[in-house]
Amino acid sequence: MAKIGFIGLGNMGLPMAKNLVVAGHEVTGFDLIEECISSLVGAGGRGGERIEDCVLDVNVIITMLPEGKHVDAVYGSGILDSAAKDTLLIDCSTIDVDTARSVGRKAKNLGYNMVDAPVSGGTGGAEAGTLTFMVGGEENSFNLAKPYLNIMGKNIVHAGGMGNGQAAKICNNMILGISMIAVSESFAMAEKLGLSAQNLFDITSSSSSQCWAMTSYLPVPGPVPASPANNDYQPGFTGAMMAKDMKLARDAARSSGQKTELADSALQMYERFLAEGGSSKDFSAIYKMINNSS
Ligand code: NAD
Repeated sequence: MAKIGFIGLGNMGLPMAKNLVVAGHEVTGFDLIEECISSLVGAGGRGGERIEDCVLDVNVIITMLPEGKHVDAVYGSGILDSAAKDTLLIDCSTIDVDTARSVGRKAKNLGYNMVDAPVSGGTGGAEAGTLTFMVGGEENSFNLAKPYLNIMGKNIVHAGGMGNGQAAKICNNMILGISMIAVSESFAMAEKLGLSAQNLFDITSSSSSQCWAMTSYLPVPGPVPASPANNDYQPGFTGAMMAKDMKLARDAARSSGQKTELADSALQMYERFLAEGGSSKDFSAIYKMINNSS
């Protein structure tokens, strides 16, 4: 069994770390919030008092942090200056491609095996150990990381070199962010045309407009019982997180030179949604903003 340091024990990191404990690994966790560490200790893990406790004398370091600036800071002063060179580094945070590649380059130059491995599947997937991991890094690093990712997830996909995990995640969420707005506008217009949500759903869910935002996560209450729309738009995936991912998509579009006009408009709409109080609601609640506008 391996010794694993886990940094960032939030909504996603804590259940992921707990699954590693259940699988028999010795997991030492650190977070800026004390209760997150206590929760891991309560589940059989070890509590770190500082980052170094998760970095020294471990075989693997996993990070699950909010944004690129946190990943840059934690790797820049904490991991890359202290961890033994044979420590495997896995960053599961969703961050910008450029930061993922620059941290990965520094790690590689210092002799580490590192992968970026952002996830899809939300807190439910983190708890159930059914996350999808989109992994960027060299083949050898991917193979070293896979046994640990297999404990926390069920689909582990190698997307290419360092940063390609983030590229896949951002492209996926860009489609999701846009398609949620498309479904919302369409269902709001249907209501005004006198067509019920259930009628439209019965038709579109088996027609050419079918998509995940419609059939698994319909933003309108009624036809899809498990969608957040039927639970007062409790997240799920918050408006703040969708806005963050749409900003990452905009940054990736700028740095790669790709025009993304629909995604740019979608980002503006998510920013308005946040300004109107949607930050901690599920992102599908953007339907209410769209339905109320005329
Ligand atoms: P979160 O805010 O709940 O957890 C992040 C944790 O990192 C916090 O507990 C915070 O205290 C800790 N942290 C920040 N800086 C730190 C530092 N320097 N040292 C130690 N700990 C530090 O966020 P989350 O929901 O767990 O998301 C984590 C990442 O996963 C994000 O990049 C997010 O975009 C991504 N993600 C989230 C979801 C989801 O549904 N929540 C789904 C897919 C991907």
